[in-house]
Amino acid sequence: MTAYDLVIVGAGLFGAVVAHEATKAGKRVLVVEKRPHVAGNCYTEDVGGIPVHRYGAHIFHTDDREVWEYVQRFAEFNRFTNSPLAKYGDELYNLPFNMNTFHQMWGVTRPEEAEAMIAEQRKEITGEPRNLEEQAIRLVGRDIYEKLIRCYTEKQWGRACTELPTFIIRRLPVRFTYDNNYFNDRWQGIPIGGYTAMAERMLDGVEVRLNTDWFDIRGQVEADRVIFTGPIDRYYDFCFGKLEYRSLKFDTVDLPVTNFQGNAVINHTDSAEAYTRVIEHKHFAYDQADVMGQPHSVVSYEYPKTWEEGDEPYYPVNDERNRLLYQRYREHAEQDGGVLFAGRLGAYQYLDMDDTVRAALDLWRKLCE
Ligand code: FAD
Ligand code: UDP
Repeated sequence: MTAYDLVIVGAGLFGAVVAHEATKAGKRVLVVEKRPHVAGNCYTEDVGGIPVHRYGAHIFHTDDREVWEYVQRFAEFNRFTNSPLAKYGDELYNLPFNMNTFHQMWGVTRPEEAEAMIAEQRKEITGEPRNLEEQAIRLVGRDIYEKLIRCYTEKQWGRACTELPTFIIRRLPVRFTYDNNYFNDRWQGIPIGGYTAMAERMLDGVEVRLNTDWFDIRGQVEADRVIFTGPIDRYYDFCFGKLEYRSLKFDTVDLPVTNFQGNAVINHTDSAEAYTRVIEHKHFAYDQADVMGQPHSVVSYEYPKTWEEGDEPYYPVNDERNRLLYQRYREHAEQDGGVLFAGRLGAYQYLDMDDTVRAALDLWRKLCE
């Protein structure tokens, strides 16, 4: 039996960063990954010369200088700026909510006209917003709520906006400038050549066992420490019950057209279609002639769904039941002491890629203390 200083379960971004740092520090590291590939949900695969984001569109954005400089060591990033459109019936709107959206919605052209419009519409909300619906109307008024938020959100989360927490909608910028950049962060881009190559570079020189479920081999591996980036409830055989997730289904088609929708991301905000987003992958590589020049285009329709056994657990469910259940597992893990739970599944928390890299670097530093 080989003895390792550190076993990391999961070759996603969290696992790849910790494995890289530990290997650099001279530790004997094993990474175990049940999927046939590294990079976790950031995985991109080549489909006829186009990098396809298999588990959903991934755009790297951050305000954290150290994280931004760190990822540059493993990949060159392009200057992709996420500027999605929202389609409601035959109407198209720019996102996030900005002067372009307000002009398209109301014909206004100046910030003070848009502000006055919203001020008038938000009057119906008095007091602190108690749910997503009230928060959305408070932020942008009822017209935008009805056309661009209500239905999209209910498709995405499978629940009425009146039953969802306010913070989900506060993630989106609201601007009184003509700026369609979906994120406020200082740095943004997509690794040229895809995220998989970036993760592979992080894992250069690290022993990685793909197609291997930790639960099938854990009795055969000796390790001083284990970091588990899979679902915490599965680790403890669901002893307190199952955590819930939202999942997604991607219907991906390869079309014989050079340019299908003219943009990487179009949100479908009405109830006519069950999908929320349509992704045209080649536009993420907008500045690469070899990708854009392909005579075909790969397009993914994204359908939200309730998680069932066998589905990918994408998003944690933000409600009281799941929060308390996770806390129970966490307390159990602290008493158990043998394993560290991390990454977006171990922490049962939605983490963007930059948060994930930050958390991985912080954990590694703590382990070095
Ligand atoms: P993961 O990528 O999930 O990696 C965990 C790995 O552990 C998986 O590969 C899994 O197979 C493996 N594993 C689990 N259990 C076991 C086991 N028992 N044995 C062996 N292996 C196991 N972030 C952004 O910054 N920008 C975006 O635009 C963005 N878009 C997103 C879109 C979607 C649809 C989703 C779901 C997420 C998005 N994210 C985005 C978040 C991003 O995916 C995460 O930040 C990142 O993937 C987290 O990395 P991780 O290593 O924690 O988890
Ligand atoms: N949202 C919306 N309409 C849109 C885009 C977003 O109502 O066209 C809302 C929705 O509630 C979503 C939230 O804003 O969950 C945050 O959007 P983001 O793009 O951060 O995440 P998503 O949940 O779409 O992955």
